[in-house]
Amino acid sequence: MKLLEEETNKYIFSRKLIDWYDANKRELPWRGISDPYRIWLSEIILQQTRVNQGMDYFLRMIERFPDVKTLAEATEDEVLKYWQGLGYYSRARNLHAAAQMIVRDFGGQMPSDYGQLIQLKGIGEYTAAAIASFAQNAPHPVVDGNVFRFLSRYFGISEPVDTGKGKKLFTSIAGDLMDRSRAGLFNQAIMEFGALQCVPGQPDCRNCPFSDACVAFETNEIARYPVKQNKTTTQNRYFHYFHVRTGNYTYICKRTQKDIWHNLYEFPMIETDRPMPFEELQQEKSFRELFPDIHTPIFRLQIANKKHVLTHRILWANFYEVTLEVLPDSFKNFIRVAENTLEAYAVHRLMQAYFEKE
Ligand code: SF4
Repeated sequence: MKLLEEETNKYIFSRKLIDWYDANKRELPWRGISDPYRIWLSEIILQQTRVNQGMDYFLRMIERFPDVKTLAEATEDEVLKYWQGLGYYSRARNLHAAAQMIVRDFGGQMPSDYGQLIQLKGIGEYTAAAIASFAQNAPHPVVDGNVFRFLSRYFGISEPVDTGKGKKLFTSIAGDLMDRSRAGLFNQAIMEFGALQCVPGQPDCRNCPFSDACVAFETNEIARYPVKQNKTTTQNRYFHYFHVRTGNYTYICKRTQKDIWHNLYEFPMIETDRPMPFEELQQEKSFRELFPDIHTPIFRLQIANKKHVLTHRILWANFYEVTLEVLPDSFKNFIRVAENTLEAYAVHRLMQAYFEKE
């Protein structure tokens, strides 16, 4: 009897959710499609990116890389250039590497099987579940930030969502609630519900189809959920960039170290452990190595203390312009490029900000 009751409740929950979705969903270019490649691309773009911003990127990428093979054959530099401005560049690098794996290991056919998807670089449980369920209706629950928020409020769950235990719990609840015959639809509906109805801040609970049984609404504790363990600390970093000019040329390098913005290009840069005015900076060993014994050229500060916020980090950047007549040896490992070809290189947000100001 209890089982029957649970099944009925599940059915009602799922039915309500899907009815809400049918009436309220946004029309998006990756909706209602079963092509796993397009679903994959859209899911990777939408991680950490708002739909409005992601849409243009999706359309431009699909036009240039219409299938896995085209993506695999492109250079990583080109893929990063298409990704420029979206942030979290490891997504683009992994996308490219996974496309090459698909060509190598799956004959160029994008898989839609969960077990195969999860083997690909950059595809975790969430993305594999999304692709498998949207493309093949496979009953794998997807649990993103929107789903955490909705379920934690609806059931009044205090388990932190940013722990392994919490993720497991919410995934299991979403799996239990899922209408397995319509897994793809259910998953899209629950994500959209969290994104549009059960929003962060002040959701419109009075017009919510779930308000009659929502614990957070009943107890007036909406702001309490989702609970996070939140042990993150923020680190400040201080970058000093040099736009070095010799005639019509300048110098850049690729960030190859294991750090933010891997494989993007930037001007020669010195990092310091605290904010540093130029008078102090020029006494630093790293500065003297980069600009040794030159005839005191003039360093013009073009941008001061430009702030850029990343997850767990705040970056502060100064940009100096300097014209050199004789190039020191320290520049021999930099790439010499004509100023008017800089546009072709994938650069990060701070470099973009500099170009936009120029
Ligand atoms: S009643 Fe409010 S808090 Fe509860 S599910 Fe609906 S929108 Fe979310």
